[in-house]
This record gives sequence, C-alpha cells and structure tokens, in this order.
Amino acid sequence: MERLSTIADWRAYCAHQRERGRRVGLVPTMGALHEGHLSLVERARDNGDVVVLSSFVNPRQFSDDADLARYPRTPEVDEGLAEGAGVSALVRPELAEMWPDFPSPTLTTVSVARLGDLLEGAGRPGHFDGVASVVTKLLTVTGPCRAYFGQKDYQQLVVVRRLVRDLAFDVEVVGCPTRRDETGLALSSRNVRLSADGRQRATALSRALRLARESSGPPSERRALMDEVMRVAGVQVAYAEVVDAETLTPLSDEQRVVGRALVAGFVERVRLIDNAEIDLRERGVTCC
Ligand code: AMP
Repeated sequence: MERLSTIADWRAYCAHQRERGRRVGLVPTMGALHEGHLSLVERARDNGDVVVLSSFVNPRQFSDDADLARYPRTPEVDEGLAEGAGVSALVRPELAEMWPDFPSPTLTTVSVARLGDLLEGAGRPGHFDGVASVVTKLLTVTGPCRAYFGQKDYQQLVVVRRLVRDLAFDVEVVGCPTRRDETGLALSSRNVRLSADGRQRATALSRALRLARESSGPPSERRALMDEVMRVAGVQVAYAEVVDAETLTPLSDEQRVVGRALVAGFVERVRLIDNAEIDLRERGVTCC
C-alpha cells in the first residue's frame, strides 16, 4: 500500500494508474476507520478499481471547534485496516495544502444551494459548503472513475450527486448501504465517544426508523412516532423527518411515494444521524 501526503505525489500516483488503463476508485473518509468505511473499499475492489482512500479531518465542515478537537483520530490503526482491506493508496493530505489559508477563510467555496441548507445544514451552518468544497478538491486531484459514499450520510450523498451533476465531474457516484452493529446502531467514528449506556440509548435512532417504516400512517404520524421513540429513550432530538428522496423537502400527508426518513439527535453530546427508505405508496386509508 502506498502512503501519500502531498498533492503532487497523490496526483502523480492516480495519473500513473490511469495511464496503465486502471480505473481509480476514490473512498473519501475522515479516518477513524471502521467496518462501514471498509465496506466502501470492498465495493470498490469488487468493481476492480485501484482503491485510493483519503483520510482527512476537514475542519471546514465542522461548525464547532470543540467538536473538531474531539473528533477521533486513530492513524496507526487506520493504516492496518486500510492495508488489510486491500487499499492501494492511503492519502493523508496536509491541512496546509488542502486549505492553505486556514484558519483564515478560504475564498473559494463550492456551495450546493437549498440541498445543503436543510436538515443537517440547518443545525450545522456551513457544514455542506465544507463538504462540497473538500469533495470537489478530492475529485479534482484524484480524477477517479468512481467515488464511493455511504448512505449513512444520506444528505451528503444527495449533495455530492448534485455537485457532480452540476459541475460535470466525469465520475460515477456509488452510494453504499449503511453498516450496522448487531443492535441496529449505524457504525460511526463518533460512536467510540459513547458510554455503554449511551450506546444503548443511541439504538433508539434505528428503532425509530424501523417503527416508522412499519407504520402505515401518513408522514406526519411517522415523524411524531420517530420523535417520541427517540425522546423516550433519552435522545435529544434534532430532527425526525420524512422527505422527498431527491429534493429533501418534507413530504405532505397526501404524497404516496418512496421517500426517505432521516433522524438526528444528541446522546451524551455526541451528534448521531441515521436514515432509511420509507415507502408511502401502500398505506392505510386515513379517512372513509
Ligand atoms: P466519515 O469518515 O464519517 O466522513 O465517512 C466516510 C464515508 O464512509 C462516507 O461516505 C460515509 O457515508 C461512509 N460511512 C460512514 N459510516 C458508514 C456506515 N456505517 N456504513 C456505510 N458507510 C459509512
């Protein structure tokens, strides 16, 4: 496995792979790797890609300095996991090259309007500008055929798909299913900050989504149900929404489509998110 950190080496490595006729698959991460990240690597390997895994804790997507400082960092463990999973190149870009002006604001920003302002964007102003800007730079330097993102961060996937479409990046965005532990909790680098009791409470997010999927009520009822399940479990709810899968706008009770349910909340000051597909086409008659 190659270990790269400068943009020059990283760009040259990817160009060399393309010249050899290989397809480059990019897996962008913030490190602190777990099985969820490795499932993206596995998917890229199944597609026959040369896998470039980037690991960069992007300060521009954190709105809170304390959250950035607390973000888990496990570089040695990551190296072993990446190598074991068959990553071809582990890229750890330097902050000074990614955002040369940091901590002053970077003048160039990629912003996906509206999609980036809803849900996570409402609670974390500027978050998706940071995501869209870093993903643009990762794609520009890597020049991959495919880029792999988890459905775990569903809104991020929607934002990235839009940015790739709008800016005509020549890359296929591959959305991969969420990996969970045996309790249903979505794997996340942030889970290591939860106590045993916190982990238990955090299972309320996936439970709320499951109950909302199983309900036959309209979106308003399912939102209320998810909200209640999380609150009862002691989650400080940020939102519990049922939205259009592409525009992310809330669905009305009359809409009978396949939408997306998204939840977010805090447990022990750790922000957790999860989501699931929700089929509203076949549901109980609400009036006679
Ligand atoms: P992160 O390091 O949290 O920024 O995540 C890097 C990539 O891994 C993103 O595309 C995430 O959506 C994806 N990812 C994170 N957790 C999971 C999971 N539990 N299952 C699948 N993909 C995940």
